[in-house]
Amino acid sequence: MKNVDIAAVFENIADLLELKNENKFKIRAYARAAQIIRRLPEEMELMHEEGKDITDIPGIGEAIAAKSLELIKTGKLKYYEDLKAQFPEGIISLLDIPNIGPKTAYRLATELGVTSAEQLEQAIRDGRVASLERMGEKTAANILHSIEAYRRKDTRIPLGEALPVVEQALDALKDLPGVRNLTPAGSLRRFRETVGDIDLMGTADDPESVVAAFVKLPQVREILSQGPTKASVILPGGLQADLRMVEHADFGSLLQHFTGSKEHNVALRTRSQKQGFSLSEYGITDMKTRELHRFADEHSFYAFLGLQYIPPEIREDMGEIDLAAQNALPRLIEVGDIRGDLHCHTYSSDGMDSIEDMAAAATSLGYEYLAITDHSSGRNIPSDEKLERLEWLIDEVHRLNKMYTGFRLLSGVECDIKADGSLDLPGDVLAKLDVVVGSVHSSFLQSRERMTQRIIGAIADPNIDIIAHPTCRKIGEREPVDVDLEAVFQAALRYDKALEINAMPDRLDLKDIYVYRARELGVKLVICSDAHTVAHLALMKFGVGVARRGWCRPQDILNTRPLREILDLLKRP
Ligand SMILES: [Zn+2]
Ligand SMILES: [Zn+2]
Repeated sequence: MKNVDIAAVFENIADLLELKNENKFKIRAYARAAQIIRRLPEEMELMHEEGKDITDIPGIGEAIAAKSLELIKTGKLKYYEDLKAQFPEGIISLLDIPNIGPKTAYRLATELGVTSAEQLEQAIRDGRVASLERMGEKTAANILHSIEAYRRKDTRIPLGEALPVVEQALDALKDLPGVRNLTPAGSLRRFRETVGDIDLMGTADDPESVVAAFVKLPQVREILSQGPTKASVILPGGLQADLRMVEHADFGSLLQHFTGSKEHNVALRTRSQKQGFSLSEYGITDMKTRELHRFADEHSFYAFLGLQYIPPEIREDMGEIDLAAQNALPRLIEVGDIRGDLHCHTYSSDGMDSIEDMAAAATSLGYEYLAITDHSSGRNIPSDEKLERLEWLIDEVHRLNKMYTGFRLLSGVECDIKADGSLDLPGDVLAKLDVVVGSVHSSFLQSRERMTQRIIGAIADPNIDIIAHPTCRKIGEREPVDVDLEAVFQAALRYDKALEINAMPDRLDLKDIYVYRARELGVKLVICSDAHTVAHLALMKFGVGVARRGWCRPQDILNTRPLREILDLLKRP
């Protein structure tokens, strides 16, 4: 059983317990476990096979570990089966559809007898869902939306799920004797938010031995085909990966060809034809002399065509070829440019680690600053505790900062922007903090007009510094909110506020095309990990990938700036 499947079981348990009105902490424990397991870089199944202790995984307690082991060993969980038996059949498949909460699923199952996405779609189309009490046309239409999003999810896999699996596989191969190159190509290399099949390519003195080692990797679930220089396998999560080994002298041509995008390669081919060249995975052919020029690396491939090297993330036919011809491509931001993180959580809200641990992890990444921005509300925090907690945070940050040199913690909060547009905390409290991140976490289905006003209202609030995950989407799970982003960008410009590129792989929000537009307008952007554990801080690279796809240079991203400038920008002493 794969991590995604184990996580799904715990998520379902949390939902069913909610329906039973069970203890909130118990529900939260399962929901958290699901979240942690979903993002583990290693398959638990594999860890178990290798004799590693699952209870060593941070955030996984004894009870969850035992249940995970039962799932790994038997493919079933007695506790879960017993729990399911207490509910109408089919309720689980309804719960799998994003945005259908336990209560709705229960009503649909009991009142309409609907037990699958197909039956639900039918019930929506013939008006039965809309006619239910407290449902209505709009809710029914929204559910239909969710079913469509759910179906799309099946065809492509989120980058955040694919990349760790692929990196782990390549890590195991790259030190084999004689291996010189080994890399993913395709949409994974271009950092697209979802990926289809994975193309891997490399060169080695003895390619056959690399292919043989590839199909024997413990991650390989199934071998589809195997030859002397290539193989196709299925990796965890149902990912298909094709490995192709070529001669060192041809690596550049092959990598360029299989990195794409299709649009980029078509534009490049059209341009090259006018110069008398034809392009292929084997190299560049002079159409007059029929001579084939081979390329060991992509730099020389592009250089032969009179072009600057074009980074994979911007190979989308968005004008990059013309700029490369003029030697005028922007210097895109890199992970090493990031000097701090302005949005993360600790166990004061739904995070997993302490402030000290988060700070230690941030310094080990070479950061100069880290803002602690726990949630203002929700997650079972009584409102009288909210203010006390912030007072404590300010003192704690002050105390800890005395111990650091060259690093500073910033006190902050992720403040809910409530459905009516008001903020969850009073202005005089927010004003005491170093950083205030404003977020929408509820009433996602508001009309475009209301949602736009809600977000712009927050931007206009003098205490808000950053709007986090501006469209609230979760890839394959929740559609973005309906908001006029152009108006949001204009407001951010007018009030000189920053918008976030949330680096959580299931969010990547703002997404690439909006980042491109915001940057073009000169909107201030930050890239934040929204880390809920120390390990999440390293997810920054996903946000940087999105920023690169949006053509961002270091100067377009606020948290590439040193602490002093950040404090000036935040107008804090
Ligand atoms: Zn948030
Ligand atoms: Zn957050």
